[in-house]
Amino acid sequence: MRKGILIWPAIMLVFAGMRAQHPVCGFDWEDISTEESVERFERQLDTFLSQSNLTNRSPITIPVVVHVVWHRPEENLSDVGILSQIEALNRDFNAENADLSTVPDEFQGLIGNIGIRFCLAAIDPYGNPTNGIIRKQCFTPGMGLMEALFFSSGGGSDAWNISQYLNIWVADTGDWISGFGSYPGQTPPEKTGIVVHPKYFGLNGHPKFGLGRVATHEIGHFLGLKHIWGDSPDCSSDDEVADTPLQGSAYNGCPDYPQNGCSESEMFMNYMDYVEDPCMVLFTEGQKQRMLATLFHPPSRIGNSPVLCLHNDQISLSTWKAAPNPSKGQVFLTFEPPLMKLARYSVYNCTGQLIRQEEKLVNRELFIDLSEFPNGIYFLRIDNHCQKIIISH
Ligand SMILES: [Zn+2]
Repeated sequence: MRKGILIWPAIMLVFAGMRAQHPVCGFDWEDISTEESVERFERQLDTFLSQSNLTNRSPITIPVVVHVVWHRPEENLSDVGILSQIEALNRDFNAENADLSTVPDEFQGLIGNIGIRFCLAAIDPYGNPTNGIIRKQCFTPGMGLMEALFFSSGGGSDAWNISQYLNIWVADTGDWISGFGSYPGQTPPEKTGIVVHPKYFGLNGHPKFGLGRVATHEIGHFLGLKHIWGDSPDCSSDDEVADTPLQGSAYNGCPDYPQNGCSESEMFMNYMDYVEDPCMVLFTEGQKQRMLATLFHPPSRIGNSPVLCLHNDQISLSTWKAAPNPSKGQVFLTFEPPLMKLARYSVYNCTGQLIRQEEKLVNRELFIDLSEFPNGIYFLRIDNHCQKIIISH
């Protein structure tokens, strides 16, 4: 087994003198300007922007594979938790987040509806059905900051083809890094995607970072965005997006509006700042243009992915079958065609009493163990469809 190697040794040096109030994005410590492929991407970006037909385009959906590389059981997030992250991304990238109304009046006209949807992938790179979630137990804490994270041979999980899938690794990145995202051209394909600490993934109940916006921010980097303050602590560095005001450094916590510094009023409520989840609410139109240009050009090209998605709203529940039936209580439900839905199933006994209710992510199969219940006739309901199940031990 490969020994884990820290991706960025520099991060540890920073930690030594750092007592941040909250974890931050690891993007800060990577010098992206020295990479030749990054420079090439930046040089070409203006051309990409002029070539991209950004107004007349078909809907863009990015298939996602989530690699859950867990050490402690609580890091092995539920399917429901993972789906909640996908739904949060879809709100944030389609201006459907309710808190968008909190954007100050002066910035309302700059709001960008990115118009990208994310879905769990329905087909893996070998053409087999999948629910887009890979789970690997690892034997090392802090795997999220190790090179081994990206390699199955090292105990992590190999990336799927990066021109067809957005790879999201969910793994422990320690106390001070909430996650990081690769910038276009910055990383070799096998390390391209984003990494998010399980504590901050999905709608997780965290008081400050519980809305899934660590992933929103990191996908911003993945799609060619820099931090809004331009990554150097003065007013000369810019994020190279025209409609985001110049800003000297990051904002933390949840600042009062307005805040001034390099600009009379700074846009600290942008997803590419460092404020807490409930206080970051928008991308701008300029950021949108940059992300869309990145999607269709090298090194990403993921905007043209042919991979099929699992969609929440496509399941046809009349097509599920329970087998075996009668059973000893262990029942497989099969859904045809295999599609994705966060489904609630309920089990009733013959007197109509509810005896089990649970939410599960359904793809092709759902296994239900009712063997604790005595012999008898039961009714299994998913949404409005009900079937009789017979248990005979
Ligand atoms: Zn960042």
